[in-house]
Amino acid sequence: GAFDGKQSSGAAPPHVLVFPFPLQGHVTPMLKLAEVLSLSGIRVTFVSTERNQRRLLSSASVRARLARRPGLHLRCIPEDFPKNNPRNFADAAQMIQEFDAAAQPRLREILSSGSGGADPEGEPPVTCVVADALIKLAVDVAVDLGVPIIGFRTSSACSFWADQCIPDLIATGVITYQDGCDLDELVSWLPGTESFLRRRDLPSLCRVVDTDDPAMQVLRGMTQNVARYQGIIFNTAEFAEPTVLAHVRGQVSTYPIGPLHGLLQTVEHMKGAAGDGGVDGVPFSCNSTSLLQEDRACMEWLDAKPPASVVYVSFGSIALVLREHLLEIWHGLVNSGYHFLWVVRPGFVVDGGGNGGDWPAEAGEGAKGRGYRVEWAPQEEVLGHPAVGCFLTHSGWNSTIEGLWAGVPMACCPNLADQYLSRRMIAELWKIGVEIKNTCDRAAVEKAVREVMGGERASEIRAAAASMSKTAREGVEEGGSSYMNMERLIQDIRAMSS
Ligand code: UDP
Repeated sequence: GAFDGKQSSGAAPPHVLVFPFPLQGHVTPMLKLAEVLSLSGIRVTFVSTERNQRRLLSSASVRARLARRPGLHLRCIPEDFPKNNPRNFADAAQMIQEFDAAAQPRLREILSSGSGGADPEGEPPVTCVVADALIKLAVDVAVDLGVPIIGFRTSSACSFWADQCIPDLIATGVITYQDGCDLDELVSWLPGTESFLRRRDLPSLCRVVDTDDPAMQVLRGMTQNVARYQGIIFNTAEFAEPTVLAHVRGQVSTYPIGPLHGLLQTVEHMKGAAGDGGVDGVPFSCNSTSLLQEDRACMEWLDAKPPASVVYVSFGSIALVLREHLLEIWHGLVNSGYHFLWVVRPGFVVDGGGNGGDWPAEAGEGAKGRGYRVEWAPQEEVLGHPAVGCFLTHSGWNSTIEGLWAGVPMACCPNLADQYLSRRMIAELWKIGVEIKNTCDRAAVEKAVREVMGGERASEIRAAAASMSKTAREGVEEGGSSYMNMERLIQDIRAMSS
């Protein structure tokens, strides 16, 4: 098969440049793809910002693992992204434009060097670019220099599909949010989602009805780029989004190869590269891609807890929370009566003016030792721990697919963008969790946690989660759909390179 690294004679050796947008939720799946490609015998250059590379490599275990990936090289863009966390789509749009401008010269330099030994770092020429779909410049540069380019969408196929459809739907007045409209109404705006999508589930951007809005312009630019890719890679799986993927395929060639952390495990085992041993007590098999230092002490805390007794709480790498909102969530968790492990990143709590606030003194008393707080957790391992019985999540796509893989039922508290879509897929399409519909106040958090941990539907939800997890595992095994799509991707990359 394509994974065995054989190269037909005479063809140029494939050399793939993998280029993620510099945020955790993008670096994670794209580095895993880079690792899968390198284990399959393809030379890979992974480009990150200087700051992210430094953060990634600050872990001895990550350094040791990446050194065991043959043909995987890291290169940098000398930029300090992200300067600030994007708080809404307008911030994100600005960041996308700034990053484009900052990264352009370096990308051009990397892509145009290499041939004839002109590359100062001695790299052979790049034969294919796999670029984050948020990086618009990558398409311009690659097309200009005649290098084939494949896009990578780090969110769901459904979110991609919404982005493809939304600008036109808004421009033609199909999507409307008048005062008093019924947010729970099922809408048929996105083909393939009619059976589950409600008005309230569309990305927050849909509330921006001004088509001249800069954020809308950025979205339109991304939409128009789609035709210039040879195909698009998704960290999703056929079984998770079959109806939407069928529609997406009508527009662009797709490679649904997720969950990528699962696929990486399969390929590691095939190649005998799965880590026994490790560094600093961290097994290689953890495959961490964290940009923040993981606090591993929480694993021992979990070890002492009974099966399915702990709520794991994380809102991802970007979200900020108002102090009073944080207290609501905290009270909800305490009132639920369960143990909880909570990720509170440095700078996560903000005051009304958006400035960094401290952890409120009120939170900490009253939990009677039931709550454990870390600044950053080894999330994949935490979700895989038998003590975890519920994942209170913001429904970021990586968290969603990691929760699905682990078979941990979720309570969803989305915050922006595509997180509303993921919440709906979790609670309604797959039925592997529950939604928090409006505000995540203490009553709503307590209710959702109780429902998942021991309520009437708990065993039903748990069974559905276990079944989805099993299906996800079959998908990345030899012959499974994600595995086969990955084989096809590798074959296509080899063909493009020759
Ligand atoms: N994550 C982690 N440790 C934490 C919190 C989050 O490793 O304590 C990881 C998580 O496993 C996921 C990523 O950070 O891979 C967050 O990505 P997601 O798409 O869920 O949300 P975003 O950060 O983009 O909002």
